Amino acid sequence: MQKGEDIVIIGGGVIGSSIAYFLKSSPGFDGAVTVIEKDPSYEFGSTARSWGGVRQQFTTPENIRISQFTQEFLSDITRYLAVDDTPVNVNYYEAGYLFLAEDRHIWQLYGNNLLQRGEGDNVSLLDTEDLARGFPWMNVSDLAGGSLGLSGEGWLDAYSLNQAFRKKAISLGVAYLAKEAAGLERRGNRINAVMLSDGTRLSAGAVVNAAGVLAAAVAGWADIKLDVRPRKRYAFSFSCREEILGCPLVIDPSGVHFRPEGKQFLAGCSPDPENDPDCTDFDIDYGWFEEHIWPILAHRVPAFEAIKLENAWAGHYAYNLLDQNAILGPHPDIRNFYFANGFSGHGLQQSPAVGRAISELIQFGEYRSLDLSRFNFARMVTGDAILEHNIV
Ligand SMILES: Cc1cc2nc3c(=O)[nH]c(=O)nc-3n(C[C@H](O)[C@H](O)[C@H](O)COP(=O)(O)OP(=O)(O)OC[C@H]3O[C@@H](n4cnc5c(N)ncnc54)[C@H](O)[C@@H]3O)c2cc1C
Repeated sequence: MQKGEDIVIIGGGVIGSSIAYFLKSSPGFDGAVTVIEKDPSYEFGSTARSWGGVRQQFTTPENIRISQFTQEFLSDITRYLAVDDTPVNVNYYEAGYLFLAEDRHIWQLYGNNLLQRGEGDNVSLLDTEDLARGFPWMNVSDLAGGSLGLSGEGWLDAYSLNQAFRKKAISLGVAYLAKEAAGLERRGNRINAVMLSDGTRLSAGAVVNAAGVLAAAVAGWADIKLDVRPRKRYAFSFSCREEILGCPLVIDPSGVHFRPEGKQFLAGCSPDPENDPDCTDFDIDYGWFEEHIWPILAHRVPAFEAIKLENAWAGHYAYNLLDQNAILGPHPDIRNFYFANGFSGHGLQQSPAVGRAISELIQFGEYRSLDLSRFNFARMVTGDAILEHNIV
């Protein structure tokens, strides 16, 4: 981009706000940054409905390196995001992820572990005796082993992270407009402006699509097809009479996952692809918990036979149909139109590295800190999927 050009970011969730922050905190950047966010309460976006999970255990080197930066960022978050020297607290609780495997998947788990340790992750393989000793409340009879993150994994308050990026970005001069973007002005292979629903025209040197589950609509305004769809996911919270000590975020071989949340627990599960339609409502299917999730919880943790369902919420993944991984960078033909979309279930934890990466692409036309070019837009056209085994 040309020096001093204005950047317009559509979407002020954790991704758009991180990009705004990293741009404005770059010493050499002198453009104006405007974030358009139509839902200033942040009630309906994915971020505030996230589980807030952070993990190192991916199987794509780039995803692992993204998580390593997340860790570095979280351990020094006050230095990055403090406004007026006020410490930043996003309630990060480091308790590990435990991936469990039956016989038929144990070699995959070993392979993942080898790759993760090769990338510098602090992750340990456990056999069934280790599991029974470390987690005496767990039924290990049908398991062959597990993989536990010993550091750099846990969960945080997603809304707080979004707000911390936002507040810091504003303190650096980013303008947040509580408006709805409604169109793009495209001239040939350039986007010249973003049109708002009230008729305002915002001219732009570059535009970033950070619209979460609505990313495909934003792309469509420039006649670009983007296979990112809204897919509903639940969080069911329940209480258990018995104390379950030292519980990490557990991922059962069935895909059901659970973790503590204060004195209660959260549980969820992604449906099979054939039962996962596009969906924009927030209705909760309690039958799904009763029939699908609870029996697996009770099998894995006998104390979960007697639980009380306390609450539930629904949110939406911005689901990348091709490979459920991030889509990052400029469109191959429209070089001033940037994408940061399709994060599916791991965009919250990827937000620091994504913000840094997109800000580098906008300023320098290349990645400087971490090469994320594999996540480019072109693969959505060529169908060159990135195979990440640990999609939750
Ligand atoms: C139930 C659930 C659990 C999850 N758990 C995890 C987890 O444990 N760990 C993890 O890393 N990730 C998790 N995720 C995924 C994570 O929440 C998302 O990947 C991440 O929040 C995406 O951030 P975003 O900024 O792209 O999207 P959003 O937070 O949705 O922000 C996009 C924003 O764009 C705005 N917008 C859209 N269109 C327009 C427009 N035309 N004009 C103006 N504004 C517009 C929207 O209002 C919205 O606020 C989970 C998601 C869900 C639903």
